[in-house]
Amino acid sequence: MGVLAAQADNRNLSKERIDLAAAYRLIAHFRMDDSIFTHISAKAPQSAEMHGRELFLLNSYGLRFNEVKASELVTVDLDGSIVDDPLGHGINAAGFTIHSAVHAARPDAACVLHTHTVAGVAVSCMEEGLLPLNQWALQFYDRVAYHAYEGIALDMSERDRLVADLGTRNAMILRNHGLMTCGRTVGEAFILMYYLERACQAQLAALSTGRALRLPTAEIAELTARQTESWDSLHAESGLDDPEWNAFVRLIRAVAPDFES
Ligand SMILES: [Zn+2]
Repeated sequence: MGVLAAQADNRNLSKERIDLAAAYRLIAHFRMDDSIFTHISAKAPQSAEMHGRELFLLNSYGLRFNEVKASELVTVDLDGSIVDDPLGHGINAAGFTIHSAVHAARPDAACVLHTHTVAGVAVSCMEEGLLPLNQWALQFYDRVAYHAYEGIALDMSERDRLVADLGTRNAMILRNHGLMTCGRTVGEAFILMYYLERACQAQLAALSTGRALRLPTAEIAELTARQTESWDSLHAESGLDDPEWNAFVRLIRAVAPDFES
């Protein structure tokens, strides 16, 4: 049994595998999944046998998010070539192209999370995009990237445009398509998506009333975004456990404990 297979052994699952499987289950729990499509990818833990080669973990092709288990995640390289595939189902290679482009361009992005939700897609269709309407949205103030829709197939030149549009930002609205977040950890990417989704839902709710809307000043919006960033960095850069991510993992452990198998 190779090292990668050994990592997939139920008695020796890495934190990366546990966290990624938890993120899949949490996205399903909060109804942010879309059939067997969209993905969450995470850097695989480095080992001596990898000789510095970057490897990534992804869901096995054809599984719903609420079926994903830590031991069954597929290990691929940046080109999407299979390195370890416990179930033998392969991966959705086309779906990995967005993720591999971001992982290649952004070494700080240990996790890339993409969703198609009704609220996210609806906001992605609005000319003004995400509005700075409330505290959830303000953490993304002037920090959301936008990428124009170019159809389903992602050719190599679109990958270049997508990462150019993303730049150094950690949240992206894919026009007429959905949402994407990146994080220095799986937990950071998930929590960003959790709040980006809520911000989109709240925007739709506020706009649906047809009433006049009150927006905070630009100064207050920027202050709020910086306050949130300093809180996020406290955990991601210091390596401290993020109590919020731990709380989400406890939630999914309570409702779907087999994700850790
Ligand atoms: Zn998509």
